[in-house]
Amino acid sequence: APVILWFRRDLRLSDHEALCAAAASGRPVVPLFIHDETVETLGAAAKWRLGEGLRVFVGALEATGSRLILRRGTALDVLRATVVEVGASAVFWQRVYDRDGITRDRTVKTALKVAGIEARSFAGATVFEPWDVSTGSGAAYKVFTPFWRAIRGRNPGEALPLPASLVAPESWPASESLRGWNMGAALDRGAKILARHAVVGEAAARDRLERFRAERLEHYAEGRDHPARQCTSGLSENLASGEISPRAVWLAALGDWQAGRPGAEKFLSELGWREFAWHLMYHAPDLDRANWRTGWDSFPWRGDNADAERWRRGMTGEPFVDAAMREMFVTGRMHNRARMIAASYLTKNLLTDWRVGLDWFQECLTDWDPAANALGWQWVAGSGPDAAPFFRIFNPRLQAERFDRDGGYRAAFIAEGQAEPPQTALEYFKAAPRSWNLSPGDRYPTPLTDLAASRARALDAYRGMDAAP
Ligand code: FAD
Repeated sequence: APVILWFRRDLRLSDHEALCAAAASGRPVVPLFIHDETVETLGAAAKWRLGEGLRVFVGALEATGSRLILRRGTALDVLRATVVEVGASAVFWQRVYDRDGITRDRTVKTALKVAGIEARSFAGATVFEPWDVSTGSGAAYKVFTPFWRAIRGRNPGEALPLPASLVAPESWPASESLRGWNMGAALDRGAKILARHAVVGEAAARDRLERFRAERLEHYAEGRDHPARQCTSGLSENLASGEISPRAVWLAALGDWQAGRPGAEKFLSELGWREFAWHLMYHAPDLDRANWRTGWDSFPWRGDNADAERWRRGMTGEPFVDAAMREMFVTGRMHNRARMIAASYLTKNLLTDWRVGLDWFQECLTDWDPAANALGWQWVAGSGPDAAPFFRIFNPRLQAERFDRDGGYRAAFIAEGQAEPPQTALEYFKAAPRSWNLSPGDRYPTPLTDLAASRARALDAYRGMDAAP
């Protein structure tokens, strides 16, 4: 009887434990993707990006003689129906560690088992399982440095080889059409603009990793903070879609580090941050909604407001912040340094609740990752574990002097005032909804807030808080 191989955001064939187990069983394999409620709730950019990933993945599976069956509905209903239809005796999948995914998977596992179907989940979304990294007393780490010390030299074991082939079932069940799902429906700018910046699929992800190691790793440690230098790997979108396994990236970086290659330790430690974020989210499932430090519940954040809307539109009059927001709007990505600066400006200079910012990132990022996004926002806001202290308020102008000295990043994304703006800067005006009423010939906005005064206001609010962390 066939095994149903349930794909989620793990769209790859290599180093995939569930896939290898299904192949090793010798039974026919029916790869299945379900457009369920977790897909429904993705932000517009992540949903568009998932559609792109699926398109490429369908082709990759077909090239091996297999298929990807697409079905829409509640995960359990679809699985039950497909099990009956193909006469499957087992369902395998790769585990996830976010709250909604865990809840869904538990329900599915219990129901399938009750029905006598073998239901097995496998590792692979992280390098190490969250329960395999703990302090001496068995607790989860709350601070990055000791967490990092615990994992940095660890070898997770060899990546799994690509199985020779997947046995096809006698007859294939019907599949819905990806086009019919219209994954880009909520995002006009997807096909027109974001597509130019996305690097989609497993082969492209592997190639990206190899080119990064060959060309940029050496400069990574000192270059990674300079957004215009493009020294980072860009792999976050592929990791978020599971197009490359975190273990494969980790092993490559570990090997480079052991070979004494400059930049490799730093790169490995950034993978460590991804790992840390997921382990935290597993242990604190509300990381994306609740202040990790509950003392912050009484902080007088402003809710959503008109200033935040200007922030979302990249119209704050602070060039570094606006470049960051526009970069995200047209590319679906934002450089890490820029994420910190944009987030600091919203939460501190505009005193706006970090969840307002988190939601907009979730809507716009093609590399959206629930754990990294939540940890990033709580880190900047000061409410998170191991967070930047609240009084460390980034000054976007000083940051620009340090990390964008020649203005290359700002020029790449801000057209106003340039005689011949680059394409990236103009794309923003093509991408912006008509209702925003923007034109590259407009005058660049004056600063929304005085940096010194708003900094003082933030520090006052912080001092007034009874339960400082
Ligand atoms: P590289 O520098 O090449 O790093 C390699 C990999 O390490 C990345 O692909 C990523 O998987 C991981 N990584 C690097 N930095 C971090 C970090 N600080 N936290 C967790 N993992 C990290 N990252 C996301 O993948 N998705 C998000 O939704 C996301 N939201 C963020 C929100 C805020 C407010 C902040 C401050 C950071 C956020 N990050 C997020 C982390 C980081 O900015 C991105 O991972 C990074 O910019 C991706 O670019 P890269 O792949 O070129 O990174």
